[in-house]
Amino acid sequence: MDKYEILKKYFGYDTFRNAQETLIDNILEGKDALGIMPTGAGKSLCYQIPALLMDGITLVVSPLISLMKDQVGSLNQAGLHAAYLNSSLTMNQYYKALEFARQGRYPIIYVAPERLMTEEFLDFALHVKIAMVAVDEAHCVSQWGQDFRPSYLKIVEFIGSLPQRPVVSAFTATATKEVRDDILDILQMRDPLVITTGFDRSNLYFGVMTPKDRYGAVKNYLECHPGDSGIIYCLTRKVVDEVSERLRQDGYAAARYHAGLSDQERKNSQDDFIYDRVTIMVATNAFGMGIDKSNVRFVLHFGMPKNMESYYQEAGRAGRDGEPAECILYYAGQDVITNQFFIDNNQDNQELDPVTRAMVQERDRERLRKMTFYCFTNECLRDYILRYFGEYGSNYCGNCQNCLTQFETVDVTDIARTLIGCVRSCRQRYGVNVILDTVHGANTAKIRQYRMNENPHYGELAKVPVYRLRQVMNHLQLKELVAVTNDDYAIVKLTASSQKVLEEGEPVTMRLAKEQERMAQEKGEKKAKKGQVPGVTLTEKEESLFQKLRTLRTEISREEQVPPYIVFSDKTLVAMSKVMPRNKEQMLSVSGVGEFKYEKYGERFLDCVRAEAGDEEPDISGEEDGRYYGATSFQRGKTDFAMTPEMAEQVKYGGQVSISEFIGQINGLRDENVMKRLTIKSVEKWLTDTGRFDVWFMGNSPRRCLTVLGEEFGIVAEKKISEKGNEYEVYFLKEEGQRRVVEWLLSGI
Ligand code: ADP
Ligand code: ZN
Repeated sequence: MDKYEILKKYFGYDTFRNAQETLIDNILEGKDALGIMPTGAGKSLCYQIPALLMDGITLVVSPLISLMKDQVGSLNQAGLHAAYLNSSLTMNQYYKALEFARQGRYPIIYVAPERLMTEEFLDFALHVKIAMVAVDEAHCVSQWGQDFRPSYLKIVEFIGSLPQRPVVSAFTATATKEVRDDILDILQMRDPLVITTGFDRSNLYFGVMTPKDRYGAVKNYLECHPGDSGIIYCLTRKVVDEVSERLRQDGYAAARYHAGLSDQERKNSQDDFIYDRVTIMVATNAFGMGIDKSNVRFVLHFGMPKNMESYYQEAGRAGRDGEPAECILYYAGQDVITNQFFIDNNQDNQELDPVTRAMVQERDRERLRKMTFYCFTNECLRDYILRYFGEYGSNYCGNCQNCLTQFETVDVTDIARTLIGCVRSCRQRYGVNVILDTVHGANTAKIRQYRMNENPHYGELAKVPVYRLRQVMNHLQLKELVAVTNDDYAIVKLTASSQKVLEEGEPVTMRLAKEQERMAQEKGEKKAKKGQVPGVTLTEKEESLFQKLRTLRTEISREEQVPPYIVFSDKTLVAMSKVMPRNKEQMLSVSGVGEFKYEKYGERFLDCVRAEAGDEEPDISGEEDGRYYGATSFQRGKTDFAMTPEMAEQVKYGGQVSISEFIGQINGLRDENVMKRLTIKSVEKWLTDTGRFDVWFMGNSPRRCLTVLGEEFGIVAEKKISEKGNEYEVYFLKEEGQRRVVEWLLSGI
C-alpha cells in the first residue's frame, strides 16, 4: 500500500492537505521534520501515515492521557493497530501492552514522556526497531512556551540511548519564533524540514463584546443558537459553578468541568458533552486538550484568558470540521485584575531562581497586555491574531466583528489632549481610573484625597460618557501615546510620542462603531442562522436527510459506545446529504468514508439514504410495542434476537463469567419460540469492530487478542493450554463488562 491508498482506505480522504504530503514524504525519506500547524489542520495524519509505511515502530510522545486515548480509539475504529502506555493503565495492563508491542503488534505506540526513561520501557525500546519518534504538542519542551513540561526534556536523552537514531518529527500549534527555535534545539533535530502552515482558520468568526450584563449576553447568544454544541470558558472554578448553575435553572442542558471536581464527575461531564448528551460545556481552561470533538459550533469566553496563545487554542476548538463556527469573547475590566492575580501567584515557577522568575512574570504581563489590546482594537480581529503569531494578515477578513461592523473615523484629538494633559499635570503618579474620574469630574473620596479636584483638567470632559473616555485611553495605549506600568499599580505614564499631541498639534483619530450597532452588539444580537446546519445551505430535502443520518449516527454511537464524531463527522454527513449515495461506490466517494468504515456502517447509511429518497419502503419489521428495536441493524425480522427492557431487568450481574456463559444466560431470558439466539459471533464481531479485540492473522487463520481498550471495557483474558499443548485464551467479562454488553444489546442489535 502507498500513502494515498492508506489515506483513502483507513481515513476515507481523497487528498492530502497542502503541508501534510510534504511532511509525510520528507519523513519517509528518513529525514527529521517539524510541522507547525494550527489546531484542526491535521497534524496527526502527518506521523500516523508514515508510521504505517515505515519499517519499525513509531513512538508518539504525547503529554495528555485523554489525547492518547482519543487518538488510539480513533485508530482502532479505523481498523488500525495502536496502543498507549501511560499512568492510566494498571501494572498488568501495562506489561501486557508492552508484551504485545514486543511482538510487533503495534506500528504506533503512544507514550507519556515520563515513561521513556523507565527501566521496563528502555528494555523494550532497546530490543525492537524504533523507526520514528514523533513528538506531539512539541512546544511543551520550551520554557518559553505556555505549557512547559519538564518531562519533555527526557525525550532527547531517550533518543540518545537508542542504538540507532530514529527519524525525529515534531508537531505543534504554537508558532512563536522562540518556541520554534527551542524545539529544534532541545530535540536536537538534524537538518529538519520546517513547515509552518498558515495559522488562519477562515471558518471561525471572531468577536469581542463588553456587555454590562455578561450572563444575559451569553444567554442571549444561546437563545439565538438552539441545539448547537459549544463551550463556555470561564476564568475560575467559582464562575464555572455559577454560570452552569444559572444555565441549568434557565433550562439549558449544560455540563461543567474544572479541576475541583472529582475524577468521576469530570469524566461524566466530558462524556456527556462528547456523546452529544448535553450541548453546552461550561469549563475552566482545564477542559479541552485532547478533545477532538469536531462539531463544536461556538466557543464563548466568559472572561478574558491570560494570553493570546491560550485564547487561540481554546477558541480553536470550535469548527474543527471546517464548517463555520463562532468565537466570542465577553470582556470586563475585572478580567485584567484576575489574570494579574494569577500571574503574581503562579506556583508553576517555584523551582526557578528569582531573576528568571521575575523575567517570566514580566513576560506574562506583556502577554496579558497584548491580550487586553485584542479586546479593544477596532481593526480586523483575525489580523490582530495572525500578526501576534508572526504572520501578516490582510487588514480586512470580512468574517470578524470589526470587519462586519460599520465604523466611522472619529476625531478624538480634544479628548486625547485632555487625558494626556491630565497625566502630565498630576506628574504621572496615578492609574487609569483616577485619570478618567478626574477629567469626568467625579466627586469621590479618592479624588478629593489625591486633590485631583484641584487639577486644571478636573471636569473638563464631564459631558463625554466614561465608556468613551476609556475607549480613547485604550486607543492612546495601543498607539503608544501613553503607557501603563506593568505592575500592580498600573500607573499612566507619558511616552516619547505624548509630546506630539500636546505640543505639536498632532491629531488623533480612531475608528468607532456606529452608535446603533454598538447597542445591538451589547445585547448580543447577531443575525440568527438559517436551517439547522450552521453556515451550510442545504435544501429542505437535504436537511431532512441530514437529520435522519444524524439520528442513525447517534444510534450507532450508543451501540458501540464511541462518540458520534468518531463514527462520522458532521462534515461527512453533510456531504452524504448532498451526494445521496445509492451504492457502495458512490458512498466511498463521500469525503470521510473509508473502506473500513464502509464495511462497518456503510450499508446502514445507504439504507437510510435510500429510504429517504423513497427508493424502497422503509423496513418497520423491527418495531415492537411502540419502540424501535433496530430495524436498521443487520439482523431483521421478529424472530431475530432483540433485547427488551423486561429481559434486561432480569439479567444477573456479578463475578467474572466467560463471554459464552454470559450470552447463555441472556439467551435463557428470551422466549425461544419467537426469538432467535444471540450468537457469540455477533458479540465478538461487535467487540472487534469497536476495538476491544484485535484480530490478526497467523498464516491464514485469524487470531483474536484483547486490546487495552478491551481491558478497560471490562474483559479479562486467561491463558489455557489445549490437550494438544497449544496455548489459547479464554475471555471473561467483569461486572462492568457485563453491564456494557447489556447496554449495547438494549440499544438495538
Ligand atoms: P490537529 O491535530 O492538527 O489539531 P487533527 O489531526 O485532529 O488536527 O485533524 C483535524 C481533522 O481534520 C480531523 O477530523 C481529521 O480527520 C481531518 N483531516 C485530517 N487530514 C485530512 C485530509 N487530508 N482531508 C480531510 N480531512 C482531514
Ligand atoms: Zn476581520
